[in-house]
Amino acid sequence: MAEVVLEGVSKSFGETTAVANIDLKINDGEFLVLVGPSGCGKSTTLRMVAGLEKPTTGEIYIDNKKVTYLEPKDRDIAMVFQNYALYPHKNVFDNMAFGLHLRKFSKDEIKTRVDEAARLLDMSEYLTRFPKQLSGGQRQRVALGRAIVRHPKVFLMDEPLSNLDAKLRVQTRAELIKLHQRLKTTTIYVTHDQTEAMTMGSRIVVMKDGIVQQFGTSKEIYESPKNIFVAGFIGSPQMNFINGSIEINDGKTFFKNNHVSVELADNPLSMLKDKKVVLGIRPESFELVNEEGDSDNFACKVEVVEHIGSESIIHTRVESGEEVVICVNGSKRVPAVDSTIKLKPSEGNKHLFDAQSGESLTSLLINIK
Ligand code: ATP
Repeated sequence: MAEVVLEGVSKSFGETTAVANIDLKINDGEFLVLVGPSGCGKSTTLRMVAGLEKPTTGEIYIDNKKVTYLEPKDRDIAMVFQNYALYPHKNVFDNMAFGLHLRKFSKDEIKTRVDEAARLLDMSEYLTRFPKQLSGGQRQRVALGRAIVRHPKVFLMDEPLSNLDAKLRVQTRAELIKLHQRLKTTTIYVTHDQTEAMTMGSRIVVMKDGIVQQFGTSKEIYESPKNIFVAGFIGSPQMNFINGSIEINDGKTFFKNNHVSVELADNPLSMLKDKKVVLGIRPESFELVNEEGDSDNFACKVEVVEHIGSESIIHTRVESGEEVVICVNGSKRVPAVDSTIKLKPSEGNKHLFDAQSGESLTSLLINIK
């Protein structure tokens, strides 16, 4: 087990800056997820921790030891990739044992470690099978086993579930969480899938264009996104964004555009007066209302209704043109396509962003309603 520290780590490939000045401290035993869209630099970050890429600047420490320029084999890490690359002519036991043979472990020690990993992964019955006789999920477990038998200080995983079908991915995700709870090995896990990040990581790093946008628990990132990018990337369906500006009337602060008016605070926030902003509201943070009198209500036309079991996802459009997606609990009445509904953002669940910089202004709304 080990703490992993990245200090001012950058990586450029010619003109391309893949990773820009990252500082991260991954605690001993933590399951950290690096998440972001394709090309944001998450694999490059992982590969630098693994020793497969050398940083252009900065230092990397594993268990308090500077490893920045050490070879992968000298770092006490084990990697699991999307492409599990098993040896087709070796059976499961030999695939798992291969790295230990190379490191000249004794036969007895190899057997003990492989048996232990196979037990952990529920693969004991399959040790004599060959990769082609296994399902995709079982093959990925062999790849995990190959990493586990090494007893490394750190697991590095790059999209290990993305070759699996949706059902198996959910199942294997849960197995990986259980495995981490038992082994408690520091793990850095790369994915572009925000659901995977939210469900697996004790903390999450959200990246874009090689830059860390936010680093925190899934709850912190979901409830208090630092900017529009994070707000839109984390959460499914994604947060709704409505453009407008801040008005101050009768000593209160409002978000307004031609069709939407929402009270944000019951005091005047003069520093925001007339500012161009984006109001962010998550799909589950709306109430469907009938009252005419409430100025916070706004009208939307229902365009598409998706029934997904326990809830329905309703795609609507405000007259000003923005799409607003809402989630309605399955037990509630679902509005019909083409009908016009009134929406009211529920109390305390509004986010506000600077329209120009995209940075969150939510913390300024001390009395946010
Ligand atoms: P993906 O999810 O698609 O794998 P990623 O977030 O892991 O993306 P990286 O693979 O880290 O992103 O790539 C970050 C940037 O660095 C991209 O613009 C990519 O094209 C560039 N890059 C990565 N490796 C190299 C390389 N060996 N040579 C040149 N450019 C590279």
